[in-house]
Amino acid sequence: AELQGVNQYAFYTDDMDRRMIERQTLETALRSALDRREISVAYQVQVTLADEALCGIEALLRWESPELGSVSPERFIPLAEEIGLIGELGELAFRLACNQLSEWDRVGFRVPRMSVNLSIHELEQGGLVERIGRVLDRTGIDPSRIELEVTESVLMSQTGDALAALNALRDMGLRLAIDDFGTGYSSLAYLKRLPVQRLKIDRSFVKDLGRDLNDESIVRAIIGLGRSFGIAVLAEGVETRKQAAFLGREGCQEAQGYLFDRPMGAAALAKRWSTPGGL
Ligand code: C2E
Ligand code: CA
Ligand code: CA
Ligand code: CA
Repeated sequence: AELQGVNQYAFYTDDMDRRMIERQTLETALRSALDRREISVAYQVQVTLADEALCGIEALLRWESPELGSVSPERFIPLAEEIGLIGELGELAFRLACNQLSEWDRVGFRVPRMSVNLSIHELEQGGLVERIGRVLDRTGIDPSRIELEVTESVLMSQTGDALAALNALRDMGLRLAIDDFGTGYSSLAYLKRLPVQRLKIDRSFVKDLGRDLNDESIVRAIIGLGRSFGIAVLAEGVETRKQAAFLGREGCQEAQGYLFDRPMGAAALAKRWSTPGGL
């Protein structure tokens, strides 16, 4: 028994060492990724369910490392938050998305709305509102075409800095969506207090529509909530016709997911989604 314990201990230490080395490798690589221009943005369409017409586009960060290959944002965003790089990454995403939107305006590809993700860390750091203002001024984009996606955790922020920043951004005319709606623990009271224009139903509730009655009830409830508060609802992670049909039937206005298109480069997206005569 003692020997087994020793072996197990050795096993866990090796595993911990390995994970620490991995994390260190990732951190070192991420620190130089910005300078080395390895970070870009992919775009995914959002559509109105009634006619599957383009109603918006979400900008999603991508990291292509020569050493590590493509690293998922699920891995590098939390790390960037931890080591204080999220401000720079978030600003890059916002800047690239706004530049792209004004370029699309220039060539006549009509994109009604551009959505950019914002982490709570960005909202709690100073300077965000000014940085966003500068990019909007420079590109001349109407702020009402930009939607910021934040998770419910932002609304639970203890410091109040995040809420103050959100209110300032609202005053500038930007729009606000609650991302991953339903996965947080916040009360619904903030929906009254906050200038929220859209709820994004989390993919985890959409996945089993047509199979899981609980998920169907949750999705119905969120759509009903949106209706009573006068807030638009978008379902994310829609992959099947069946899911889209359920959502449409229940009164969900918009959707996003592989059924309509995957995230991709700007050029590919414009080619696939610009209407004849548009470009
Ligand atoms: P999110 O904001 O919830 O973004 C949606 C994620 O779902 C994206 O993953 C997208 O590629 C994926 N997705 C879209 N449609 C489908 C579908 O039909 N099926 C499935 N299985 N997945 C789908 P991605 O690009 O890997 O991003 C992951 C997360 O990383 C995002 O989740 C967001 O929380 C974060 N993230 C990405 N870009 C940024 C950014 O610029 N700033 C911040 N703060 N976070 C970002
Ligand atoms: Ca999002
Ligand atoms: Ca989401
Ligand atoms: Ca998510």
